[in-house]
Amino acid sequence: MKKEIYKKIKEYKKIVLARHVGADPDALGSTLGLKDIILNTFKDKEVYAVGVYSSKFKFMGKTDDISKVDISDALLIVLDTPNIVRIDGVDDISKFSYVIKIDHHPLIDDFGDIQWIEEDASSVCQMLIELVYDTRLKMCPEGAKKLFMGVVSDTNRFLFDYTSPKTFNLVYKLVNDTKIEFTKLYDDLYERPLCEVRLQGYIEQNMKVSINGFAYLKLTDEILKKFGVDAASSGNIVNSLNNIKEILVWVIFTEDKKNDVIRVNARSRGPVISKVLEKYGGGGHALASGARLKEEKEIKNIIKDLEETCKNYK
Ligand code: AMP
Repeated sequence: MKKEIYKKIKEYKKIVLARHVGADPDALGSTLGLKDIILNTFKDKEVYAVGVYSSKFKFMGKTDDISKVDISDALLIVLDTPNIVRIDGVDDISKFSYVIKIDHHPLIDDFGDIQWIEEDASSVCQMLIELVYDTRLKMCPEGAKKLFMGVVSDTNRFLFDYTSPKTFNLVYKLVNDTKIEFTKLYDDLYERPLCEVRLQGYIEQNMKVSINGFAYLKLTDEILKKFGVDAASSGNIVNSLNNIKEILVWVIFTEDKKNDVIRVNARSRGPVISKVLEKYGGGGHALASGARLKEEKEIKNIIKDLEETCKNYK
Protein backbone atom coordinates (compact mmCIF):
# COMPACT_ATOMS: atom_id res chain seq x y z
CA MET A 1 0.00 0.00 0.00
CA LYS A 2 2.69 2.54 1.03
CA LYS A 3 4.79 1.65 -2.03
CA GLU A 4 1.72 2.16 -4.24
CA ILE A 5 1.12 5.57 -2.70
CA TYR A 6 4.76 6.53 -3.23
CA LYS A 7 4.57 5.42 -6.87
CA LYS A 8 1.56 7.67 -7.50
CA ILE A 9 3.25 10.62 -5.79
CA LYS A 10 6.28 10.03 -8.01
CA GLU A 11 4.15 9.66 -11.13
CA TYR A 12 2.03 12.82 -10.84
CA LYS A 13 3.49 16.26 -11.53
CA LYS A 14 0.55 18.05 -9.92
CA ILE A 15 -0.62 17.02 -6.45
CA VAL A 16 -3.41 18.45 -4.29
CA LEU A 17 -3.50 17.66 -0.57
CA ALA A 18 -6.83 18.09 1.20
CA ARG A 19 -8.12 17.62 4.77
CA HIS A 20 -11.29 18.03 6.80
CA VAL A 21 -13.22 21.22 7.57
CA GLY A 22 -12.62 22.69 11.01
CA ALA A 23 -8.92 22.07 10.71
CA ASP A 24 -6.89 20.82 13.67
CA PRO A 25 -3.13 20.23 13.92
CA ASP A 26 -3.34 16.64 12.60
CA ALA A 27 -5.28 17.77 9.53
CA LEU A 28 -3.04 20.79 8.94
CA GLY A 29 0.18 18.98 9.82
CA SER A 30 -0.61 16.13 7.46
CA THR A 31 -1.40 18.32 4.45
CA LEU A 32 1.22 21.02 4.97
CA GLY A 33 3.87 18.62 6.25
CA LEU A 34 3.40 16.22 3.34
CA LYS A 35 3.66 19.17 0.95
CA ASP A 36 7.08 20.08 2.43
CA ILE A 37 8.22 16.47 2.19
CA ILE A 38 7.08 15.95 -1.41
CA LEU A 39 8.79 19.19 -2.47
CA ASN A 40 11.92 18.16 -0.59
CA THR A 41 11.95 14.86 -2.48
CA PHE A 42 10.88 16.02 -5.95
CA LYS A 43 11.93 19.60 -6.74
CA ASP A 44 9.89 19.90 -9.94
CA LYS A 45 6.39 19.15 -8.64
CA GLU A 46 3.43 21.47 -8.17
CA VAL A 47 1.96 20.73 -4.73
CA TYR A 48 -1.05 22.47 -3.23
CA ALA A 49 -2.31 22.09 0.34
CA VAL A 50 -5.92 23.27 0.33
CA GLY A 51 -8.63 24.24 2.82
CA VAL A 52 -9.55 27.40 4.70
CA TYR A 53 -6.57 29.18 6.24
CA SER A 54 -6.50 28.69 10.00
CA SER A 55 -5.45 31.85 11.84
CA LYS A 56 -5.52 29.94 15.12
CA PHE A 57 -2.91 27.51 13.82
CA LYS A 58 -1.06 30.05 11.69
CA PHE A 59 2.28 28.56 12.79
CA MET A 60 1.41 25.52 10.65
CA GLY A 61 1.61 27.63 7.49
CA LYS A 62 -0.56 28.99 4.70
CA THR A 63 -2.94 27.03 2.51
CA ASP A 64 -3.12 27.25 -1.29
CA ASP A 65 -5.82 28.37 -3.69
CA ILE A 66 -6.55 25.95 -6.53
CA SER A 67 -9.46 27.83 -8.10
CA LYS A 68 -7.36 28.57 -11.21
CA VAL A 69 -5.54 25.24 -11.33
CA ASP A 70 -6.50 22.61 -13.91
CA ILE A 71 -7.06 19.58 -11.68
CA SER A 72 -8.04 17.11 -14.40
CA ASP A 73 -4.50 15.74 -14.54
CA ALA A 74 -3.82 16.04 -10.83
CA LEU A 75 -3.47 13.52 -8.02
CA LEU A 76 -5.67 14.25 -4.99
CA ILE A 77 -4.62 12.95 -1.58
CA VAL A 78 -7.35 13.32 1.06
CA LEU A 79 -5.93 13.20 4.59
CA ASP A 80 -7.64 12.69 7.95
CA THR A 81 -11.14 12.86 6.44
CA PRO A 82 -13.54 9.89 6.47
CA ASN A 83 -16.39 11.46 4.51
CA ILE A 84 -16.59 13.38 1.25
CA VAL A 85 -18.86 16.17 2.57
CA ARG A 86 -16.24 17.16 5.15
CA ILE A 87 -13.39 17.63 2.65
CA ASP A 88 -12.36 21.28 2.76
CA GLY A 89 -11.38 23.17 -0.40
CA VAL A 90 -12.33 20.54 -3.00
CA ASP A 91 -15.78 20.63 -4.64
CA ASP A 92 -15.77 17.43 -6.59
CA ILE A 93 -13.22 14.66 -6.10
CA SER A 94 -14.28 12.98 -9.35
CA LYS A 95 -12.66 15.83 -11.31
CA PHE A 96 -9.21 14.61 -10.28
CA SER A 97 -7.25 12.09 -12.30
CA TYR A 98 -6.53 9.83 -9.29
CA VAL A 99 -7.58 9.91 -5.62
CA ILE A 100 -5.82 8.52 -2.54
CA LYS A 101 -7.37 8.52 0.91
CA ILE A 102 -5.14 8.29 4.00
CA ASP A 103 -7.09 8.24 7.27
CA HIS A 104 -7.34 6.96 10.83
CA HIS A 105 -11.09 7.47 11.34
CA PRO A 106 -13.57 4.60 11.13
CA LEU A 107 -14.73 4.19 7.54
CA ILE A 108 -17.70 6.34 6.52
CA ASP A 109 -17.44 6.93 2.76
CA ASP A 110 -15.74 4.38 0.58
CA PHE A 111 -13.78 6.63 -1.79
CA GLY A 112 -10.39 6.82 -3.47
CA ASP A 113 -8.54 4.64 -5.97
CA ILE A 114 -6.28 3.74 -3.04
CA GLN A 115 -7.55 3.84 0.55
CA TRP A 116 -5.05 3.48 3.38
CA ILE A 117 -7.02 3.43 6.61
CA GLU A 118 -5.56 2.52 9.98
CA GLU A 119 -8.12 3.02 12.68
CA ASP A 120 -5.63 2.25 15.40
CA ALA A 121 -3.05 4.78 14.22
CA SER A 122 -2.80 7.65 16.70
CA SER A 123 -2.94 10.24 13.92
CA VAL A 124 -2.60 10.67 10.19
CA CYS A 125 0.69 12.47 10.87
CA GLN A 126 1.97 9.24 12.43
CA MET A 127 0.93 7.34 9.28
CA LEU A 128 2.83 9.87 7.16
CA ILE A 129 6.03 9.49 9.21
CA GLU A 130 5.72 5.76 8.50
CA LEU A 131 5.05 6.43 4.82
CA VAL A 132 8.21 8.53 4.55
CA TYR A 133 10.45 6.02 6.32
CA ASP A 134 9.05 3.03 4.42
CA THR A 135 9.46 4.65 0.98
CA ARG A 136 11.94 6.89 -0.82
CA LEU A 137 10.26 10.09 0.30
CA LYS A 138 12.79 12.35 2.02
CA MET A 139 12.03 13.82 5.42
CA CYS A 140 12.94 17.47 6.03
CA PRO A 141 12.92 19.56 9.25
CA GLU A 142 9.99 21.77 8.21
CA GLY A 143 7.81 18.78 7.34
CA ALA A 144 8.99 16.97 10.46
CA LYS A 145 7.92 19.84 12.73
CA LYS A 146 4.41 19.79 11.28
CA LEU A 147 4.07 16.01 11.52
CA PHE A 148 5.40 16.10 15.08
CA MET A 149 2.78 18.69 16.09
CA GLY A 150 0.04 16.61 14.47
CA VAL A 151 1.02 13.50 16.45
CA VAL A 152 1.44 15.39 19.72
CA SER A 153 -1.88 17.13 19.30
CA ASP A 154 -3.98 14.13 18.24
CA THR A 155 -2.58 11.98 21.06
CA ASN A 156 -3.01 14.87 23.53
CA ARG A 157 0.70 14.65 24.34
CA PHE A 158 0.80 10.83 24.17
CA LEU A 159 -2.05 10.45 26.67
CA PHE A 160 -4.77 9.01 24.48
CA ASP A 161 -5.42 5.44 23.48
CA TYR A 162 -3.76 4.47 20.20
CA THR A 163 -0.51 5.94 21.44
CA SER A 164 1.55 2.82 20.86
CA PRO A 165 5.17 1.62 20.76
CA LYS A 166 4.95 2.34 17.04
CA THR A 167 4.05 5.98 17.81
CA PHE A 168 7.13 6.37 20.00
CA ASN A 169 9.37 4.53 17.54
CA LEU A 170 8.33 6.73 14.65
CA VAL A 171 8.53 9.96 16.66
CA TYR A 172 11.95 8.92 17.98
CA LYS A 173 13.15 8.31 14.44
CA LEU A 174 11.73 11.63 13.26
CA VAL A 175 13.32 13.67 16.03
CA ASN A 176 16.63 11.82 15.89
CA ASP A 177 16.85 12.10 12.13
CA THR A 178 15.92 15.78 11.71
CA LYS A 179 17.15 17.17 15.06
CA ILE A 180 14.13 19.44 15.27
CA GLU A 181 13.91 21.47 18.48
CA PHE A 182 10.60 19.95 19.41
CA THR A 183 10.11 21.52 22.85
CA LYS A 184 10.03 24.96 21.18
CA LEU A 185 6.94 23.85 19.23
CA TYR A 186 4.91 23.53 22.43
CA ASP A 187 4.76 27.33 22.82
CA ASP A 188 2.85 27.54 19.56
CA LEU A 189 0.66 24.54 20.30
CA TYR A 190 -0.21 25.16 23.92
CA GLU A 191 -0.10 28.88 24.63
CA ARG A 192 -3.63 30.02 25.49
CA PRO A 193 -5.28 33.38 26.02
CA LEU A 194 -6.39 34.16 29.56
CA CYS A 195 -10.00 34.65 28.43
CA GLU A 196 -10.13 31.01 27.31
CA VAL A 197 -8.63 29.75 30.57
CA ARG A 198 -11.26 31.76 32.43
CA LEU A 199 -13.97 30.17 30.29
CA GLN A 200 -12.56 26.76 31.18
CA GLY A 201 -12.93 27.69 34.85
CA TYR A 202 -16.56 28.63 34.18
CA ILE A 203 -17.20 25.28 32.47
CA GLU A 204 -15.61 23.36 35.33
CA GLN A 205 -17.69 25.27 37.87
CA ASN A 206 -20.99 24.98 36.02
CA MET A 207 -21.14 21.69 34.13
CA LYS A 208 -23.85 19.30 35.19
CA VAL A 209 -22.61 15.86 36.25
CA SER A 210 -24.97 12.88 36.53
CA ILE A 211 -24.62 9.83 38.76
CA ASN A 212 -23.83 7.79 35.65
CA GLY A 213 -20.78 9.92 34.91
CA PHE A 214 -22.22 12.04 32.15
CA ALA A 215 -21.30 15.74 32.21
CA TYR A 216 -22.40 18.55 29.93
CA LEU A 217 -22.75 22.29 29.64
CA LYS A 218 -24.44 24.62 27.17
CA LEU A 219 -22.58 27.79 26.25
CA THR A 220 -24.75 30.53 24.83
CA ASP A 221 -23.49 33.33 22.64
CA GLU A 222 -24.08 35.65 25.60
CA ILE A 223 -21.67 33.66 27.79
CA LEU A 224 -19.06 33.55 25.00
CA LYS A 225 -19.31 37.33 24.67
CA LYS A 226 -19.00 37.78 28.42
CA PHE A 227 -15.70 35.89 28.37
CA GLY A 228 -14.52 37.55 25.16
CA VAL A 229 -14.06 34.24 23.29
CA ASP A 230 -15.57 32.75 20.14
CA ALA A 231 -17.39 29.48 19.51
CA ALA A 232 -14.17 27.67 18.55
CA SER A 233 -12.87 27.98 22.12
CA SER A 234 -14.82 24.95 23.37
CA GLY A 235 -12.81 22.76 21.00
CA ASN A 236 -9.62 24.01 22.67
CA ILE A 237 -10.93 23.32 26.16
CA VAL A 238 -12.72 19.98 25.84
CA ASN A 239 -9.59 17.79 26.05
CA SER A 240 -8.51 19.48 29.28
CA LEU A 241 -11.56 18.11 31.10
CA ASN A 242 -10.09 14.59 30.99
CA ASN A 243 -9.27 12.35 33.95
CA ILE A 244 -11.99 13.60 36.28
CA LYS A 245 -12.88 10.71 38.55
CA GLU A 246 -16.65 11.22 38.46
CA ILE A 247 -16.88 11.81 34.71
CA LEU A 248 -16.93 9.19 31.95
CA VAL A 249 -18.37 11.19 29.07
CA TRP A 250 -18.43 14.96 28.73
CA VAL A 251 -19.90 17.31 26.15
CA ILE A 252 -19.83 21.03 25.51
CA PHE A 253 -22.70 22.42 23.43
CA THR A 254 -21.75 25.82 22.05
CA GLU A 255 -24.00 28.28 20.29
CA ASP A 256 -22.24 29.40 17.09
CA LYS A 257 -24.27 32.38 15.94
CA LYS A 258 -22.00 33.20 13.01
CA ASN A 259 -22.60 29.81 11.36
CA ASP A 260 -26.09 29.37 12.80
CA VAL A 261 -25.30 25.98 14.34
CA ILE A 262 -24.72 24.46 17.75
CA ARG A 263 -21.24 22.99 17.99
CA VAL A 264 -20.94 19.74 19.88
CA ASN A 265 -17.57 18.69 21.32
CA ALA A 266 -17.81 15.29 22.98
CA ARG A 267 -15.18 13.15 24.72
CA SER A 268 -15.21 9.84 26.57
CA ARG A 269 -13.00 7.82 28.90
CA GLY A 270 -14.65 4.50 28.03
CA PRO A 271 -18.10 4.33 26.40
CA VAL A 272 -18.14 4.57 22.60
CA ILE A 273 -19.79 7.90 21.75
CA SER A 274 -19.24 8.19 17.99
CA LYS A 275 -22.34 6.10 17.24
CA VAL A 276 -24.53 8.54 19.18
CA LEU A 277 -23.04 11.56 17.43
CA GLU A 278 -23.49 9.88 14.04
CA LYS A 279 -27.22 9.73 14.78
CA TYR A 280 -27.19 13.52 14.84
CA GLY A 281 -25.20 14.04 11.64
CA GLY A 282 -21.79 14.12 13.32
CA GLY A 283 -19.20 11.47 14.09
CA GLY A 284 -15.49 11.10 14.70
CA HIS A 285 -13.53 8.64 16.79
CA ALA A 286 -14.92 6.17 19.34
CA LEU A 287 -13.83 8.38 22.25
CA ALA A 288 -13.63 11.82 20.60
CA SER A 289 -16.52 12.97 18.48
CA GLY A 290 -18.30 16.08 17.32
CA ALA A 291 -21.35 17.37 15.50
CA ARG A 292 -22.91 20.60 14.25
CA LEU A 293 -26.61 20.83 15.14
CA LYS A 294 -29.19 22.93 13.36
CA GLU A 295 -31.91 22.46 15.97
CA GLU A 296 -31.66 23.37 19.66
CA LYS A 297 -34.07 20.54 20.49
CA GLU A 298 -31.51 17.93 19.40
CA ILE A 299 -29.42 18.82 22.46
CA LYS A 300 -32.01 17.22 24.73
CA ASN A 301 -31.93 13.99 22.72
CA ILE A 302 -28.14 13.80 22.68
CA ILE A 303 -28.06 14.30 26.45
CA LYS A 304 -30.60 11.49 26.85
CA ASP A 305 -28.69 9.14 24.55
CA LEU A 306 -25.31 9.78 26.16
CA GLU A 307 -26.75 9.44 29.66
CA GLU A 308 -28.07 6.06 28.55
CA THR A 309 -24.69 5.16 27.00
CA CYS A 310 -22.95 5.89 30.33
CA LYS A 311 -25.53 3.95 32.29
CA ASN A 312 -25.17 0.88 30.06
CA TYR A 313 -21.39 1.08 30.20
CA LYS A 314 -21.41 1.17 33.99
P1 AMP B 1 -13.72 18.11 17.88
O1 AMP B 1 -14.53 17.98 19.12
O2 AMP B 1 -14.23 19.19 16.96
O3 AMP B 1 -12.26 18.23 18.20
O4 AMP B 1 -13.89 16.76 17.05
C1 AMP B 1 -13.53 15.50 17.55
C2 AMP B 1 -13.56 14.48 16.43
O5 AMP B 1 -14.87 14.42 15.89
C3 AMP B 1 -12.63 14.77 15.24
O6 AMP B 1 -12.09 13.54 14.80
C4 AMP B 1 -13.52 15.33 14.20
O7 AMP B 1 -13.08 15.06 12.90
C5 AMP B 1 -14.85 14.65 14.49
N1 AMP B 1 -15.97 15.55 14.16
C6 AMP B 1 -16.18 16.79 14.68
N2 AMP B 1 -17.28 17.34 14.14
C7 AMP B 1 -17.79 16.43 13.28
C8 AMP B 1 -18.92 16.40 12.39
N3 AMP B 1 -19.76 17.43 12.30
N4 AMP B 1 -19.09 15.30 11.63
C9 AMP B 1 -18.24 14.25 11.71
N5 AMP B 1 -17.18 14.22 12.53
C10 AMP B 1 -16.93 15.28 13.29
